[in-house]
Amino acid sequence: MAERILIIEDEIKIADFLRRGLAYEGFKVEVTHDGETGLKAARDNVPDLVILDVMLPGLDGLEVARRLRAGGETPILMLTAKDTVPDKVKGFESGADDYLVKPFAFEELLARVKALLRRNKAVDQTTFRFSDLSLDTGTREVSRGGRKIDLTTKEFDLLHFFILHPRQVLSRELIYDRIWGYDFGGESNILEVYIRYLRSKLEAQNEPRLIQTVRGVGYALREE
Ligand code: CA
Repeated sequence: MAERILIIEDEIKIADFLRRGLAYEGFKVEVTHDGETGLKAARDNVPDLVILDVMLPGLDGLEVARRLRAGGETPILMLTAKDTVPDKVKGFESGADDYLVKPFAFEELLARVKALLRRNKAVDQTTFRFSDLSLDTGTREVSRGGRKIDLTTKEFDLLHFFILHPRQVLSRELIYDRIWGYDFGGESNILEVYIRYLRSKLEAQNEPRLIQTVRGVGYALREE
């Protein structure tokens, strides 16, 4: 599956240059030109990586990075102008994972992007953990506090999607799009049914709830 990159950059020329280059490399790219819209796109579409310019109109890149970091672990590559290099320090404090000083060669950016995506995966390629929950994509085993849990294929896929994006609010539309691959038009309650199945299996021994309902939006994997 193509990895998704969100670009938040107000300079149209740079944003276009990045979009074209990354799309050519096979990434699925979304571009936004200001902090508010970028932050909303990051929350709605949960990209695999964010390329974030420091100097943005309105909400600046440092603030966007801080808020992104508070809501999840998406890697952030920050772009900074040459004369604002001290910002790189602030960039890291605000949660950026790496930075690149403008002007840069596309190849350099691509190398950083690939390294960040790899690093994020290499932490643990098949085993994911959240709280006392563990999920292995190799053996397709799921357990909670050592207790084995049998899941159907769809239940497994759904839980996998949650554990890939811990503490992030995932909208119903996004979950339908990624797990069922088509639009139910908001009429279907199949997601609610699957959430109920998952909860009953995950909470069979009265364990605390891990899949929380976010009213009017969707669901999030987080502790109560
Ligand atoms: Ca800028």
